[in-house]
Amino acid sequence: ATGKVVVVGGGFGGATCARHLRALAPNLSVTLVEPDETIVTCPFSNTVIAGLNGIDAITRGLAPLKSLGVTVAVDRAAGFDPSRRVVKLSGGQELPYDRLVLSPGVDLKWGAIEGYDEKAAEIMPHAWKAGPQTLLLRRQIEAMDDGGVVVISAPQNPYRCPPGPYERASLIAHYLKAKKPRSKVIVLDAKDNFSKQGLFVEAWKKLYPGLLEWVPFAQAGNLTRVDPSTKTFHTDFSDVKADVANVIPPQRASRIVDQLGLAKGEDWVRVNQSTFESAIVPGVHVLGDSIIAGAMPKSAFSATSQAKMCAHAIAALMAGREPPVASFINTCYSLVAPDYGITVSDVFRVAPNGSITAVEGAGGVSPLGAPPEFRAREADYARGWYASITAETFG
Ligand code: FAD
Repeated sequence: ATGKVVVVGGGFGGATCARHLRALAPNLSVTLVEPDETIVTCPFSNTVIAGLNGIDAITRGLAPLKSLGVTVAVDRAAGFDPSRRVVKLSGGQELPYDRLVLSPGVDLKWGAIEGYDEKAAEIMPHAWKAGPQTLLLRRQIEAMDDGGVVVISAPQNPYRCPPGPYERASLIAHYLKAKKPRSKVIVLDAKDNFSKQGLFVEAWKKLYPGLLEWVPFAQAGNLTRVDPSTKTFHTDFSDVKADVANVIPPQRASRIVDQLGLAKGEDWVRVNQSTFESAIVPGVHVLGDSIIAGAMPKSAFSATSQAKMCAHAIAALMAGREPPVASFINTCYSLVAPDYGITVSDVFRVAPNGSITAVEGAGGVSPLGAPPEFRAREADYARGWYASITAETFG
């Protein structure tokens, strides 16, 4: 295959797609557009919030991609002209493409909770995009007095990283148990069920009794408003005041997809789930957190699995061949404590109706009631997973 591919977004999906395109079709010219010179990963950012790691441990550069022949444009995609097939960068440059890939992640829905906007997030951090927000939440927890209350609000599905709020609550509880044992973590949930719930609840009873309280939607009600001046969460049923307030707001596909009309007024982009090509704008592929990908959760592992299939599809299509039959994998590890890990895994195929579907009997969650050595091994696997996915993605 020959020609030009532009990839927008140098996170898990975009960096993986660019890397695999170069490997599969060395004659393709591949340009990656990403405004940040370094990527701070959301995976393992909860360990930074809990003081187990510094921010350097979750920071990666894009330089290794350049040595593979990927051209990196440190800029933001600001617009497109699909009729001329060009991407316009905010610096003014225009990049022509034969095929365009977007893996721009999520945007937070500011204002979906009354009172929660970008200014409020400086007082009640979301820390759902890693970087300064991660450090802000860390500093607030460190500065909190013993006996303080950390409140985390978790959104309705779908959102980035379904088990993420519960891993966060667990690791904050781990820190408080050691350093500020009279304190408390409360999760106000917009759902009555969540990912790996049985495993989390089993662990919380054992590790954090009285320290971590999960309040389901049925008891919490809708989170209607937050008040940054008092760090208060106002729900249908009560007002909960926090010493440290972590608001994880509802999310949607990154707004850059609106420039191409790809979301059509919906929160997420619909694509052909085998090739990730948009039905609305031919030649444009979208993957990762921004899309509806059938039964796949919005995770870094999912984004990289989709990115590899998307690279295969593009290499085939640009060489005039049929794209291969798609299959995917995902494993989500969560650390409940540094020596206590739990997982959910699935293998996926595209069903005849075109939707990505979990292969029955090919996945599962860690067993309930497993001995401590088992949980300690899973925590080691989680660290091994992080080391390998970041090495594979960023080099
Ligand atoms: P991202 O990785 O967010 O990449 C998007 C990139 O696009 C960004 O670098 C952004 O700067 C760039 N971008 C956006 N707009 C533009 C534009 N206009 N022009 C150019 N570039 C642009 N997943 C796991 O698999 N395992 C975990 O343990 C895990 N833990 C998590 C913990 C937390 C607290 C959170 C919040 C998430 C976690 N995730 C985890 C989920 C994971 O972070 C996401 O699913 C993953 O990052 C999605 O990849 P992506 O490529 O879609 O988006």
